[in-house]
This record gives sequence, C-alpha cells and structure tokens, in this order.
Amino acid sequence: MDYQGSGIGTGVALGPVLRMPEPLPEPRNEPRTADADEEKARAATALSETSEHITARGLEAGGAAKEVLEAQAMMAADPSLLEDVNARIEGGSTAERAVFEAFAGFRDMLVGLGGYMAERATDLDDVSQRVIARLCGVPAPGVPESPTPFVLVARDLAPADTALLDLDKVLALVTSDGGPTSHTAILAREKSIVAVVGASGALQIEEGATVVVDAAAGLVTVDPDDARRDEAERAIAERRTRAEAPVTPGALADGTPVPLLANLGSAAGAADAVAKGAEGVGLFRTEFLFLDAAEAPSVEAQREQYSQVLAAFGGRKVVVRALDAGADKPLKFLNDQHEENPALGLRGLRSLRASEQILRDQLTALAEAAAANEADVQVMAPMVATVEEAAYFADLAHELGLATAGVMIEIPAAALLAERVLAVCDFASIGTNDLTQYTMAADRMLGTVSSYQSPWHPAVLRLVAEVGAAGARLGKPVGICGEAAADPLLAVVLVGLGATSLSMSPAALADVRAQLAAVSLDEARNLSSVALAAASAEEAHAAVRAALTR
Ligand code: PEP
Ligand code: MG
Repeated sequence: MDYQGSGIGTGVALGPVLRMPEPLPEPRNEPRTADADEEKARAATALSETSEHITARGLEAGGAAKEVLEAQAMMAADPSLLEDVNARIEGGSTAERAVFEAFAGFRDMLVGLGGYMAERATDLDDVSQRVIARLCGVPAPGVPESPTPFVLVARDLAPADTALLDLDKVLALVTSDGGPTSHTAILAREKSIVAVVGASGALQIEEGATVVVDAAAGLVTVDPDDARRDEAERAIAERRTRAEAPVTPGALADGTPVPLLANLGSAAGAADAVAKGAEGVGLFRTEFLFLDAAEAPSVEAQREQYSQVLAAFGGRKVVVRALDAGADKPLKFLNDQHEENPALGLRGLRSLRASEQILRDQLTALAEAAAANEADVQVMAPMVATVEEAAYFADLAHELGLATAGVMIEIPAAALLAERVLAVCDFASIGTNDLTQYTMAADRMLGTVSSYQSPWHPAVLRLVAEVGAAGARLGKPVGICGEAAADPLLAVVLVGLGATSLSMSPAALADVRAQLAAVSLDEARNLSSVALAAASAEEAHAAVRAALTR
C-alpha cells in the first residue's frame, strides 16, 4: 500500500512506524464548581509555565526552531488570550474548558485567514494541548520514546516536537496533514530529516509496520517487497557516502564549474554553510532580519548585520537581496496596506521604490559593510518586472558604491525580456519559487493549488531557458536561487538551460554536488531538452529520471 504526499528533500528511509499519540480528549463542558478566582489563578499559572517551558525548549534547540518556539511561547503569554480565558471562567467554565475554547477561537480566526496563517493553526493547537495537559496534571502529548530508530507518523507535528526530534532515533517523518510550507516542512528541510508531509490516509498505517519513505517521490510504501527494500537500502547507503564525500567546488563531470552557493536568512547559518562547502552566498534574504521591526532599521544596524555574514565568507561572493517585503513576508515599515492580492501588489522593488529612502539606506549600509570586508559583495533587487526597473536599481546601487548590481527574475515579463533586462544590469538570479507562482497563477502559500506549483513545469523551464540564453549571449551570469536548485535532478536541467551557479539551503549541497558530478554539460543540455519537450511537470520529471538511468 502506498501513500502519496509532498516530499521534503530527496532522502530515503526504511524502518518501523511509531505513531504520535492522539491528542488529549476535549475537556468536558460542565459547570465550574471551584471558585472563579482560584480557577483564573490556575489558568494563569498553567499558561505562564507553558510559555516558560516552550521558551526553554527553544533555547535548547537553537536555529530556526528557536524562532518558531519563541512565537509559540508568545501565543501562551498573549494577554488577550488570558482575558478571553478569564471571561469564560467568569461565565461558569472550568479552567480546562476555558483554555480549550479560547484557543479554539483564535485557531478558527487563523484558519479563516487561509494560506500561511492557517498553517500556523497547528502551532496554536499544540500550545492549547500543553496548557490543558498541565492543568490536568498529565504529560504533554509529544513524540513517543523508543530505544530503537523509527519512522514517526503523525497528523502534523508541533514545532516544539519537530525542533527537538532526536535525529539518531527518528529515521523519517510522515504527516497526514500540513503542506510544504508548514513548520514541520520548514524545520525538516533545515535539519535534513527525510519527510513526506500531507500524505492523506497515512494515519491508517499500523504501529510497527515497516515502511519505505521516499522523499524525492513523495511516497510512503507500507510492507515493501524485497526489491523495494533493497532499492531503499541502496539509496540510503549512497546518500551516506555522498554526505561523507570530500567537499569540493561544484562542477560537472567534464570539469565545467558550477559554483554551489548558500541561501541564508541571517548570519546564524553562515558557519554551517561554509562547513557544507558553500562557495559563497547566492541569496541573502535581508527581510528575514527585520520581520518584527516596526520601523525601518538604521544604516548602522544594517551595516552590523551584513558585516556578520560577509565576515564568514572571506573573499567569496555574497549576493545580498534588497528587502523583499510583501505577500508572505510583510514588513510593517514598508507596506502595511491591506491588498486583495498581495502577491500581485506593492511587493519587492515596487515597495522599495515607494519608500526610496529605505532602499538608499540599505544600499548605503551594504556598501559600507562591503568596504569593511573582503567578500565580493553583489546586490540584487527582488520582484523586477520591467527593463526600466532593472536600470533604476542597478544605477542607484552603482551610484551608492556597489560595483555589482543585478536583478531577480521572478516575473515572466522579466524572463521574456531577459536580454534587455540583462543589458542594463550586471547579472540575473532566477527565483524559481515566485517564477513558478506567477507562471502558473498559483499562490505559493495555498495548499489547494499546490499541484500547480512545480518548477519542473516546462512553461517555467522555458522561461529559465530564455534567461540562460540571454545571459550566454551577453556574457553575464545567471544564477538560480529558488528551491528548484536544491532538487538534484532539476539542478542538472537548470544548468543545461544556462544557469551558471546554483544557490540553495546548505542541507541540499551534498546531494546536488554529487548529481552534477555525474553528468557532462552536453548531457545536461540533452536532459534539459527532454524536460522542455514534456507536456507537464510530472512528465518532465519522469522523462529526465528515465533518461538519466538509461
Ligand atoms: C524565489 O522566489 O524563488 C526566491 C528565491 O525568493 P523568495 O523565496 O524569498 O521569494
Ligand atoms: Mg521570490
């Protein structure tokens, strides 16, 4: 029996299933017998202790997990939630029931907002369960303990659980709910855990059953036959060899260099990226530094933040992206207007231009950081649609002291006019996440249209080919910095289409490096023709897979 979901990464795992315990039962809606003040005090204590406990787990976990857990701790400490709980206790509820109902109210509101916010609903459910467990004096629901390694099957994992998974024990994660942008997926990607999320029906898999989890195919196979087991064991051994292989610069089998760069959102991941062999940074998402800021950061504060990243990369290339605010990454100080379709709104360079001083300050801070460090600093603009925008940005960056200024190609219009865009700036970097969203008209945060969101789609690849060809004609670099570069097979296709460097989450570097080393430039070009000739993303993927294994 197979279950299909969205795979995170390309790993394979084989092992017995342990299931996440079912949630606590809903607290009964019976009249309160205890004194209201006593109940309110009990609820307040449980909420604050839960918040402290989650904060402590965040500190223990570090990295992205820390941020996720801090957000959860804040939910438990939210004063308006406590007010809501108190009002329900006054109204006659027990503390348990009041907590349950107050959290459920917030949850429904998040679900109503849809997209990214709806995926945060699980985080809220988890906090609610932890508070109720504390009130009832029972252990908080969580990852089962086992002396031997296992595949964890759950409805969806709470960030608190994902963050602290014992990676020596958990071979893989399978969830029945949650999409590719859920926190489970984000953290699994960061920790390189083999994972398939949103595999509906997976909760029916019995405890103890043996499964193969194949992230590349997004497939969970229960009770695999001998051939499937052998295949999985081979893939696991090969991956181990790849991870242990010496870290060399990215190159094709014929020696063609393809620099492999890291995507970073803060200086925290820089050391790990260098250790994994990143030859520089292909995308530094600066907006992640300022998501909580109410006001635009000062030149000094920015210079400090950028210097930390530049220092970690010595004389290597670091491509810094100007603030990409809007849609899923709102920055209060750049654009806090309500928009019906924020992905099509005042995003990226558009919002920077509307507040040009913020852009000038950022470029100035970056130029100062560049002058004080050895890194080859390059800057690029997000969400560029027109040739005029590309010229505006490159001219301003040059004027403010940055020698190399390029643009992200994320909008089909910019891809189709790539030669004219590249003529007025120094390089292009293709953001396949947004390029896919805009080509397929499918909101990247919306699980219901996730079947449209594959960068393997030949329409997306054709746009990449346009940019690659334009770069080759003008002798200007064309990098890829969307998630597509982290898919080893697709990475080969992208190089065949003319990409001159690939930037990805550092966890993906080893697999991509190994795959590139197995094909020549001619083979990569042939494989890209195979993908372009397909009628769908699935066909392109399958045809390239088949052609490579022939
Ligand atoms: C992209 O769109 O592919 C990209 C790299 O930018 P982001 O994911 O930050 O929008
Ligand atoms: Mg983008």
